[in-house]
Amino acid sequence: MLRGLNMDRQLLVSGLIEYAGRNHSTTDVIATDSSGVVHRTNWSAIRSRAQQVSAALLSEGISPGDRVATIAWNDHRHLEVYYGITGLGSVLHTINPRLRDQQIAWIVKHADDQLVFVDPDFLPVAEAIAPDTPSVRTWVVLANELPDTSLPNAVAYEEWINERKLINEWPLLDEWCAATLCYTSGTTGDPKGVVQSHRSIVLQTWATCTGDGHDVNSSQSILLAVPMFHVNGWAIPFAAAMSGAKLVLPGPDLSAAALVRQIQEEQITFSAGVPTIWLSVVQHLKETGLDIPSLRRIAVGGSAAPRSLMDTLEDDYGVFVSHVWGMTEMTQGSAGRFTHRVTGLDREEQRRRQAMAGRELYGVELRLVDEDGEDVTRDGSSPGELLARGPWVAGAYFELDDDTTHVADGDGVWLRTGDVATMDAEGYIAIVDRSKDVIKSGGEWISSIELENTAVGAAGVAEAAAVGMPHDRWGERPLLLVVLEPDAKFEREKILEAIKPHVASWWLPDAIVAVDEIPHTGTGKINKKLLRDKFSGFEWPT
Ligand code: AMP
Repeated sequence: MLRGLNMDRQLLVSGLIEYAGRNHSTTDVIATDSSGVVHRTNWSAIRSRAQQVSAALLSEGISPGDRVATIAWNDHRHLEVYYGITGLGSVLHTINPRLRDQQIAWIVKHADDQLVFVDPDFLPVAEAIAPDTPSVRTWVVLANELPDTSLPNAVAYEEWINERKLINEWPLLDEWCAATLCYTSGTTGDPKGVVQSHRSIVLQTWATCTGDGHDVNSSQSILLAVPMFHVNGWAIPFAAAMSGAKLVLPGPDLSAAALVRQIQEEQITFSAGVPTIWLSVVQHLKETGLDIPSLRRIAVGGSAAPRSLMDTLEDDYGVFVSHVWGMTEMTQGSAGRFTHRVTGLDREEQRRRQAMAGRELYGVELRLVDEDGEDVTRDGSSPGELLARGPWVAGAYFELDDDTTHVADGDGVWLRTGDVATMDAEGYIAIVDRSKDVIKSGGEWISSIELENTAVGAAGVAEAAAVGMPHDRWGERPLLLVVLEPDAKFEREKILEAIKPHVASWWLPDAIVAVDEIPHTGTGKINKKLLRDKFSGFEWPT
């Protein structure tokens, strides 16, 4: 072999913040903290303060490889901590504060976290878990001064970092060192830890910045509506530094009114978030008559986005919706862009593709297999389980011996995503369901996602959830739960009419029930397990 003669420079997360601090020093980073104070800072200041965080971690005895956790909103301090932890070679463990206290305690113990950064809003969580998490030596409260707390060894962030000098240079790490640790939501079984290396973060961030990814570049003003604890904020905190984009971190208030205000004030051009966020933004825009002309593109994912949402955003507000699919194990796995051929098709054909969950993005290979592990035809209608592999797809879980999620074939290891999907000849994927949520009626599959997405197209329906409930004759049949818009009347027939043109007649729900609220998981997905439990014993109408 003739080796390439390139320089041996490692792909490190510190290289991202270093680049932004050097080349986009005065570009704005604007953040609202949990007390509602707006901080206007820039990439140079974020870099310096991240270096202070690293210095402070060093003096706490944190070593490379040690896990350091965050329980925090999207704000500038969380961003500094992102880079301060990873820059030093310790591992950024972002925790979803919406999990139950016992789950958080389990995760902190499993990760063996040594230090935790906690937002004042989440002090009750930290106080509740502290007695069960002895590995945590220090709790750093993300505030100017230390609030009243029963936490042992608690310090205030601003005092803690101000006492330190910057570290002069980021350590030269091996790019295979762990950079981040993020646990899957674990609605069934214990959560599983996904460890991303520096190399993986840099590569996936690059993919995110490409035109077919999120097209993050220095001309963008980005509003991060994805929590930084959900899959590293879909890599956008890293992509913003890699490209030197303006970044707006909204803090705890993710209400539609707050998001719309920030889009207008900060001339936001790109944003990302789960469908529920955008459904509420659209509803707010309709109610108030406000407009968001600066916003050109959003990435929607995490759960399936209804087509009606995309149509409204594009037709009424001029916002292109990129429907992405991904998971903690790989961040972004697909992206919804039109190929050159598709740009020449009529709008209806384009929209049909847009409603699917994008196409394979370079770096994540996707494959569909049946129950015997045989490849399923890419005909746009045959469902199979989606497998994935690639340099930033998790190849194993953190300290998990009994890993049934990876399968080996002659050609290497694949991750079983647990998603049932179809793929068409052009490579567009459509997520039929999570394999555990698909409704099995008479041996055939009904997509709960399809029922939900078409039901929200009915006038007056704000949100919908379909679950398979036991049925004497068919095994399972779909029960549709709907949340109505304020002042809307429940009209069963109208909802069925909205669904009918899009699905086979035997897919139509056997019962529709109006509910006040649909429960969501900590990352904004419909909590189907809770719904199935709540409606267990449901009697079908005769
Ligand atoms: P998480 O690891 O919490 O981000 O969850 C990943 C799961 O979210 C995937 O395995 C899918 O089931 C679901 N998901 C993500 N994006 C989409 C999408 N665009 N359409 C449907 N489901 C999605």
